[in-house]
Amino acid sequence: METKDLMYKRAYVWDKLNAEERKACMDMGEDYKAFLNESKTERRCAAEIIRRAKEAGFVCICEKKELKAGDKVYYNNRGKAVMLSVIGSEPLENGMNIVGSHIDSPRLDIKQNPVYEAGGTTLLKTHYYGGVKKYQWVALPLALYGVIVKANGEKVEIAVGDKCGDPVFYISDLLPHLAKDQMSKTMSEGVEGESLNILIGSLPVDDTEASDRFKTALLAVLNERYGITEEDFVSAELEAVPAGAARDVGFDRGLIVAHGHDDRVCSYASLAALLSIEKPARTTVGLYVDKEEVGSIGATGMHSQFFNNMVGEMIALMNGGNCSDLAVRRALAHSTLLSADVAAAFDPNYPSVGDNANFAAIGQGIAMVKYTGSRGKSGANDAAAELVGKVRKLFNDHGVVYQTSELGKVDQGGGGTIAYIMANYDMDVIDAGGAMLSMHAPWEIVSKADVYMTSRAYHEFFVNYR
Ligand code: MN
Ligand code: MN
Repeated sequence: METKDLMYKRAYVWDKLNAEERKACMDMGEDYKAFLNESKTERRCAAEIIRRAKEAGFVCICEKKELKAGDKVYYNNRGKAVMLSVIGSEPLENGMNIVGSHIDSPRLDIKQNPVYEAGGTTLLKTHYYGGVKKYQWVALPLALYGVIVKANGEKVEIAVGDKCGDPVFYISDLLPHLAKDQMSKTMSEGVEGESLNILIGSLPVDDTEASDRFKTALLAVLNERYGITEEDFVSAELEAVPAGAARDVGFDRGLIVAHGHDDRVCSYASLAALLSIEKPARTTVGLYVDKEEVGSIGATGMHSQFFNNMVGEMIALMNGGNCSDLAVRRALAHSTLLSADVAAAFDPNYPSVGDNANFAAIGQGIAMVKYTGSRGKSGANDAAAELVGKVRKLFNDHGVVYQTSELGKVDQGGGGTIAYIMANYDMDVIDAGGAMLSMHAPWEIVSKADVYMTSRAYHEFFVNYR
């Protein structure tokens, strides 16, 4: 063996792509941006995933009387989480190849009794969702998305701020001239949760003697446009996200800035990989779940029973309506899951937070993360060496550019994914996803090379992993 072959060296994806692949990579970047622009919230993202799946021939599992090899089905969990599956030729009890990602992202949720007026303006109170640095969410244009369920049960969709000509919304910040006290606070206290109030109006009603002139005028506008009253906010789910489309970054257009790359980049990569699969041996599953950013709880989060319920439904549809508890347990226990979540990438502006030999970098392909967690690997799934070995071999055998990563230096911080939840099913699980900059910021960055290579990695896993 030559001495140069003794060393492990990570590669850049760009160096490994021929001209045709480079074009495919750039084209995928365009499609990914289009996907993101339709997917600003988990509800919108679920709808976009289902729209694309239907276009590729998937049908709702609720319409199936039986399932056979090659069938393509989707399950819509309350409009906020999705399961896609291409049924394999082997029995489900042999296990599935699953890629699990999440479609919720950090943002500002609107409170249940949110509308008030102050200083000649009307505002909405918010409660932040997920791990946000609150100071990042002021002084930038915001869009509002969500649903309002009216008194009569009718559901109204709200989507304002991203279409051409739409107004946007905004959270004011203190001018530097008067920010002496604010600037001496820590960054976590400089902007407080209760001051993240969104400007939504500034016109009063004509009656100068009326009380709440601004709030009343705004409620009248909302009533005219959506047929709602103030009480309807009680049964609403509205989310404020940065207004604006995904865009290329850099003179050479290799990067994409957008809201919600965490974790829609893995969701997109998994979706793109799954939609092209025909007649696999093992059943392939794409999971696109909600609530990861707040602990994966709730009926639409990964802790919910919805996935094992679906496995039971699929087994029953393959076996003339019969399904035993044991069959479900076997199907889950014999499955392998790539927990498809983003990895933090080396940031040239903050070079000291990671052990760079063990930290992902932009453009070096899908990042395999053996363990997440914090301190002494607390909360880590910690994939077994045997599993890492199999996935590594799969990637090497099929020209997938991969890197390894852990979240920063030892004791610098930490985090988690859905990996440990799925591993509770007695399933082999490893984290593997794209690397990114500015994770959880209103605008995040990924490389087109990593989107492309991550999708290739998921495709090889779906088709060739045994
Ligand atoms: Mn994530
Ligand atoms: Mn996250």
